[in-house]
Amino acid sequence: METLFSGIQPSGIPTLGNYIGALKQFNEIQHDYDCFFCIVDQHAITVPQDRLKLRENTRKLAAIYLASGLDHEKVTLFIQSEVPAHIQAGWILTTITSIGELERMTQYKDKAQKQSQGIPAGLLTYPPLMAADIVLYNTNIVPVGDDQKQHIELTRNVVDRFNSKYNDILTKPSIHMPKFGARIMSLQDPTKKMSKSDDNQKNFISLLDEPNVAAKKIKSAVTDSDGIVKYDKENKPGISNLLVIYSSITSKSIEELEAQYEGKGYGDFKGDLAEEVKKFLITFQEKFNYFYENKEVLDEILDKGRDKASFVANKTLKKMENAMGLGRKR
Ligand code: ATP
Ligand code: MG
Repeated sequence: METLFSGIQPSGIPTLGNYIGALKQFNEIQHDYDCFFCIVDQHAITVPQDRLKLRENTRKLAAIYLASGLDHEKVTLFIQSEVPAHIQAGWILTTITSIGELERMTQYKDKAQKQSQGIPAGLLTYPPLMAADIVLYNTNIVPVGDDQKQHIELTRNVVDRFNSKYNDILTKPSIHMPKFGARIMSLQDPTKKMSKSDDNQKNFISLLDEPNVAAKKIKSAVTDSDGIVKYDKENKPGISNLLVIYSSITSKSIEELEAQYEGKGYGDFKGDLAEEVKKFLITFQEKFNYFYENKEVLDEILDKGRDKASFVANKTLKKMENAMGLGRKR
């Protein structure tokens, strides 16, 4: 069976974008792969985080992974900082990555620009740590949203570089993106991606938003003035984004939705979508509460995940260190 790895940062509460672009696909393909799902808290600290909030978001993210339908008997769910091999392998890969290629990453450029207290170096060296996350598990596929495409490309290049310089040790991963919904856009600015770390709450729907609040955010989402419910990403980014959200949470196709709202205005369309989002969140949050409130169950899953992940990761790390001549040979 091939191996799948993916991670989400506890940098806030996951949004509908994270659900549609990542969590939903994890759920759909979990039985086809040996799966490792990681709460990447060491990536989250590449921008400033509050200590208590980070802890809380980490637990919430674990419960959100499970509420999305992951089978915890089968998949490995764990916290990055609890498996030190990630940082160790990350350092190794940092030494074979050039500053030039890191400076070209759009995530770095976007996030660096928002830092008021100087740019943390970790924001620049994020991709080799992400490459380490992936290669430690001999990963074949990485299901992610469109925004991570560039980082996966870099990972593939770094793997080639490592393998040609040292021994052919690392597995080269492929990206896996959903056909629809790989980039859910901000509700107030549909030319920007929806992000959980956005300062403006109106831009995103968090999976733990109070359902009525989420419904209001949908109703006040920015659209256009021509009043036709039609998918046209270039000219109607707002409506197109809402159509993708609608389709993803109801499994009605875009075409069906366009037909359903032919001759109707945005009011009807947004009103119905707001109801669907509300229904979706109510069901999701019931499942979330079960795992979040059962502290012992959650801890047991994360302990088991840490042990299994460490076992696999340490084996790959050892091979990497040996290949490079680090430490003593034993
Ligand atoms: P942050 O703002 O802290 O970077 P984020 O919302 O971008 O948060 P990440 O933890 O960086 O979330 O990414 C988790 C997963 O969600 C990744 O697979 C990423 O590609 C996916 N993802 C992030 N934003 C979107 C989006 N707007 N649409 C679809 N997928 C997304
Ligand atoms: Mg992100």
